Amino acid sequence: MAGKKSNRWTGSCSKIAGIDKRSLSQKIHKALAKKFLRMIQHNRCARCGKFMAKDAETHFDHMTDWDRDDNPLQAYLNIDNIRLSHAECNLHHGRLKAVERRALSRQVKANKKSS
Ligand SMILES: [Zn+2]
Repeated sequence: MAGKKSNRWTGSCSKIAGIDKRSLSQKIHKALAKKFLRMIQHNRCARCGKFMAKDAETHFDHMTDWDRDDNPLQAYLNIDNIRLSHAECNLHHGRLKAVERRALSRQVKANKKSS
């Protein structure tokens, strides 16, 4: 059976690599997903639009903020909402969101004090 043969192979490979089979499988899925996104995005970053070099560090990037969605888990897992970005572009976007959240939080506190 192909399944058992495959399990034996990933089992041997995980022993050689020194990581568990699940992690090995996740690494393969992640690499395939990144390769696919690079292809459909023509190697362009979803945030800045610039070329992503082959050795560029990249992140899966949720284009709409899943943590502000009514259903965060569904928004997080929505593959139509995921693009590939330079790691720095994604982190920059995350930092901006954090600044926005802190500003909003300060505004809410200020409003509570004044009312
Ligand atoms: Zn970028």
